[in-house]
Amino acid sequence: VALIEIKKLAKTYDLGAEKIYALRDVSFSMEASEFTSIMGPSGSGKSTLMNLLGCLDLPSSGSYRLDNIDVQNLSANDLADVRNKKIGFVFQSFNLLPRASALENVELPLLYGRVPQPDKIALEALDKVGLAHRSRHKPNELSGGEKQRVAIARALVINPKIILADEPTGNLDSKTGTEIMKLFTALNAEGVTIILVTHEKDIAGYSRRVLQMQDGKLIRDTNPAVLSRER
Ligand code: ADP
Ligand code: ADP
Repeated sequence: VALIEIKKLAKTYDLGAEKIYALRDVSFSMEASEFTSIMGPSGSGKSTLMNLLGCLDLPSSGSYRLDNIDVQNLSANDLADVRNKKIGFVFQSFNLLPRASALENVELPLLYGRVPQPDKIALEALDKVGLAHRSRHKPNELSGGEKQRVAIARALVINPKIILADEPTGNLDSKTGTEIMKLFTALNAEGVTIILVTHEKDIAGYSRRVLQMQDGKLIRDTNPAVLSRER
C-alpha cells in the first residue's frame, strides 16, 4: 500500500463573492521512502498542498489517505494527533525558539506525546545531524546551516512518516544549501520520506521525483533528469 494516496483533492477559499480555487483535481500516490520536490510559480498551490499533506488543514473535497488513515474525515483533534505523530516540518526561516537551546528546540515535538527521557532522544536526533556538540547553544550562536540542522533534528525526533520541507535552503548560501541537501539525501537513504518545495532545479536535483504545480493543478509528475534537459 502507498504511504500517500491523494484523489481529486481540491481546496477552495471563499472570499465573499469571489471563490479561489487554490487546488483542483490533484491526484497522486507516493510510496514510503520516496524523495519528492514540489515546484511551480508563486500562487500555484504549493503551500496549500503542503498544508494538506501536513494535516494542518482539510481539503474542500477529494480524499487524502496517509498511512491507511482517511485524513479528510478526521476531526480537528484527530488531525492534530496524526500531524504530531507522523509529520516533521522544516521551514525556510528555521522557526526555532530563540531563547531555547538547540536541545530544547529538538525536544519540543516530544512534549506532545509525553515521551519519557525526551532529552536523551533529542540528543540522539542532534547527533544524527552532526550537532550533538552544539546542544547547549542558542539559535543566535549557530550558523544558518547549523540552525537548519537543528530544525531537521526537531523534525526527525518523533520518527516521522514524512518530512515536509518548505524551501529549506531558501535562506542559506549555496554551499550550505548543498550540505543540507546532502543531509536530506542521507536521511532518505535510511528510509525517511521527504517532500520539499523548491524554486531551484539544482535543489530539486537531489530528489527523485518532481511534482509540478500550476494554477492549483498538478500539471506534471516527472523527475529531475527530465527537468535538467529542459533549458
Ligand atoms: P504557492 O505556495 O504556490 O505560492 P499557495 O498555495 O500559497 O501557492 O496559493 C494558491 C492560491 O490560493 C493563491 O491564489 C493564493 O492567493 C490562494 N490562497 C492561499 N491561501 C489562502 C487563504 N488563506 N485565503 C485565501 N486565498 C488563499
Ligand atoms: P557558516 O559559514 O558555516 O554558515 P559561520 O561562519 O556563520 O558558519 O559560523 C562558523 C562557526 O561559528 C559555527 O560553528 C557557529 O556555530 C559559530 N558561530 C557563528 N555565530 C556565532 C555566534 N554569534 N556566537 C557563537 N558562535 C557562533
